[in-house]
Amino acid sequence: MRTIISGGLIGSSGGAYRADVAIEDGKIHQIGCDLAPGDHTIAAGECILLPGGVDVHTHLDAPSLGMVSADDFRSGTIAAACGGTTTIIDFCQQEHGKSLAAGIEKWDNKASGKAAIDYGYHMMVVDLTDSVFEELARLPQQGIPSFKLFMAFKGGAMIDDLTLVRALDQAKRSGGLVMVHAENGDAAHLLQQRFLERGLRQPIHHALSRPARIEAEATARAIALAEVVGAPIYIVHVSCKEALEEVVRGKMRGAPVIAETCTQYLYLVQEDLDRPDFEGAKFVFTPPPRTIEDQANLWRALANNLLETVSSDHSSTNFRGQKDNGREDFTLIPNGLPGIEERLTMLYQGVVQGKITLDQFVDLSATRPARTFGLYPRKGAIAVGADADLVVFDPDVKWTIKQERLHHGVDYSAYEGQEVRGRVRDVLLRGKVIVEGGQYVGKPGEGEFVQRAAYGTPQ
Ligand code: MN
Repeated sequence: MRTIISGGLIGSSGGAYRADVAIEDGKIHQIGCDLAPGDHTIAAGECILLPGGVDVHTHLDAPSLGMVSADDFRSGTIAAACGGTTTIIDFCQQEHGKSLAAGIEKWDNKASGKAAIDYGYHMMVVDLTDSVFEELARLPQQGIPSFKLFMAFKGGAMIDDLTLVRALDQAKRSGGLVMVHAENGDAAHLLQQRFLERGLRQPIHHALSRPARIEAEATARAIALAEVVGAPIYIVHVSCKEALEEVVRGKMRGAPVIAETCTQYLYLVQEDLDRPDFEGAKFVFTPPPRTIEDQANLWRALANNLLETVSSDHSSTNFRGQKDNGREDFTLIPNGLPGIEERLTMLYQGVVQGKITLDQFVDLSATRPARTFGLYPRKGAIAVGADADLVVFDPDVKWTIKQERLHHGVDYSAYEGQEVRGRVRDVLLRGKVIVEGGQYVGKPGEGEFVQRAAYGTPQ
C-alpha cells in the first residue's frame, strides 16, 4: 500500500518547502517532486503538511482528590487526534506504598484497547523508597526514561531536596531525565492556610496563594541542584516571567535545563479565576494563570528559543459534578484543565499573529518534544524513515472554538468563544487516516505504546 500526499507545504523546524510525500508500510518512504503514483492520493492543496503533534504532558484517566479525569484514553486520544496530535506522553502514576511496576501495569490497562494515537509514559514518582530508587534505575531500559517529581503539594506528592538530588543523581547515571513541578510547597501551603483561616475560599484564592515568586524560587533551586550533580532537568509548565528568568539564568551558566510552557499560560490570566457563578473554577490549575505581561514574556521566550516545548497539561475534570466539589473551599477544586485538542490550533495563533515563525511552531509542537523525550527521529519530523504521523492543516479556515465542536469527554473548553485561524483537516497515524475532514474515522485501540530512548542517546 502506497499513499501519496501531494502538493502540500511541508512544515519543518528547519524551514518549510513544497514537496510530495510517499508513504509505504506506515513509514515515510520518499519526499520529493513528481513521485510515482500510489494506490491512494491525498491532495494537500493549499494546506500545510505538519509532523503529527507530540504532546509530552497529559493526564488521562488520572485520579485526583478522590475523583478521576473526565477523559480516559479513548476520549482523550480521540480529542488529541482531532486536534492534530499523534503522540502523547502521559503521566503514569505511582501510588503511595506501591511499586512503579504496579503503576505501569495500571496504566497499560487504562491505555490498551482505547488509545487512538501512540503514547508513552513518564513515571510520576510520589514515594521514593530505596526499592523504588532501584526500580527507577531500570526504567530507561524499559522505554520510560523520564520521571516526574513534585516540589509542591505538601502532605501529598511533595518531596524534599534530598530526594530530588538523589533522583537527579540516579537519572544522570541511568539515562533518565528528571522533570519537576517547581513551586515551593511549604510557602504555598502556608498562604493557603492563611486564606482559609480568613474565610477567603473562592477560586481566585487558589491563584493568590501561589504567587510567581513561589514558582521562581523552586525553579531556581531545582536548576541549582541539577547543576550540582551535573544532571539534566526538565521544568514543567513555566507560567511566569520570574520563573522564566531563573530558567534563562540557568541556561546562561550552562546548566542543562530544558523548560516547557503550556497553552494556558499563553492565553489565560489570573482574572479568569474571578469569573462569576463559580465559573472561575474552570481555570483552577497549578501553577495558576498569570498576567498579560507574563504571556508576552513567554511568547518572547518562545520566539528566542528559550523554552523548548509547549504542552497541554491536559487534566480534565467536569465543571458540573467535579470542579463543583470546591464551591465552599478552593482547596477542594480538582486542579487542571482540558487542552489536548486545542493545543496545536492555539499555538498556531502565534504564527498567525507573527509572534513565532512556522518553523518554531513545528519545533515547539512536535520536533523538540520528540527530541527531548527519546522519540526522534521516529516521531516529530517529516523525514524519510520516520513514522508517517502527519497532519494536513488548513491555515486559512477561520472558526470559533466551541465546546460542541470538540471531541474531548469533559464539559467545557477553557478557550470557548476564541476566534482562530487554521484548522486540522486530516490526520494520519503510521500511514493510516484517522481523521478526515475534521472527523475521527479511526479505531480506538490502534494507538501503540512507544518505547523511548534513554536521555542523551545520539539522534
Ligand atoms: Mn501536569
